[in-house]
Amino acid sequence: MLSVPRAEWARIVAHLEAGYPHEACGILIGEIDGAQLRVHEAILTRNAWAADAAAPDDPQADAHSLRDRYLIDPHDIVRADRDAAKRNLDIIGFFHSHPDWPCQPSETDRAWAWPVVAFLIVSVPAGRVGDAAAWVLRDDRSAFDGLALEIA
Ligand SMILES: [Zn+2]
Repeated sequence: MLSVPRAEWARIVAHLEAGYPHEACGILIGEIDGAQLRVHEAILTRNAWAADAAAPDDPQADAHSLRDRYLIDPHDIVRADRDAAKRNLDIIGFFHSHPDWPCQPSETDRAWAWPVVAFLIVSVPAGRVGDAAAWVLRDDRSAFDGLALEIA
């Protein structure tokens, strides 16, 4: 289960709605205790995706935009990891929005994801947060499994 404190969920919602119609994203800091992933803080990051930088070898890259792609700047991840470690916490997941799209992971999400940590995907139809779902990539990277999501 991924549990997100209500106050952090509210910050995530505001960030994702403000980013619309682009995908918006961020990092989840907290604790992993067996099958329990407890968020302490959401780090709100910018969407650093750019067609030329993110996928220079992808001939289809120009067909995409910030509306259907996201990238968290590696510097933001390193900074979040350092801050988390000072508080005896870890990066336990990442979140991003799907503007006008369901909260199911895309093939691109699968290709870029890491196992162990949670991927929280939030649908943002017409600029307002809708359904949300959490996912964990299988160790063999073949597919995501659903993870129960608790906002409390
Ligand atoms: Zn996605």
